[in-house]
Amino acid sequence: MSDRGFTIWFTGLSGAGKSTLAQALEPVLRQRGHNVEILDGDVIRTNLSKGLGFSKEDRDTNILRIGFVAHLLSRNGVAVITAAISPYREIRDQNRELIGDFIEVYARCSIEALTRRDVKGLYEKAIRGEIQNFTGISDPYEEPLNPEVTVDTETETVEESLGKILSCLEEKGYLEPVAVSA
Ligand code: ADP
Repeated sequence: MSDRGFTIWFTGLSGAGKSTLAQALEPVLRQRGHNVEILDGDVIRTNLSKGLGFSKEDRDTNILRIGFVAHLLSRNGVAVITAAISPYREIRDQNRELIGDFIEVYARCSIEALTRRDVKGLYEKAIRGEIQNFTGISDPYEEPLNPEVTVDTETETVEESLGKILSCLEEKGYLEPVAVSA
């Protein structure tokens, strides 16, 4: 059992692939000996952050709460995966400082592709003006300047994106490389 905790911090627009990649990462990290906890934005908003809205202040509170829990868990050896939009650079950087062992993964995808994909049917509504404060349409999203990993989910398969993240974790020593037997 590996006891070095860390936080994989996904950031990106709605539908960019944060939850999909978090779910794909979990079994791999478990198989490699880590205890894993996913802090998914949608799930957190129904319990830990219930009642918070989408103003800048509420968004910041939500992301700082997720960061605080990620900090508690990762300092106790857990591999934490967060999957929330986390639109503001300054707040992500505050969490980076608090957590230390922090791998920021930018799930990048253009608005055009997201509107075509429209996993949750939200972009169409947001473009029609039926959802206020929708990140990327009517609310800001600040791209990371120096993320540890960028996955381009517009052009990559889930497996390719997953491979990039695992390689980064191996390079940084958070994950033992898999021994290849002949
Ligand atoms: P988010 O959690 O960022 O809101 P989701 O994970 O719910 O986004 O949705 C992402 C969608 O994009 C899924 O339908 C997924 O199958 C698709 N997709 C296509 N390529 C990728 C990729 N490389 N990584 C992650 N998701 C991808």
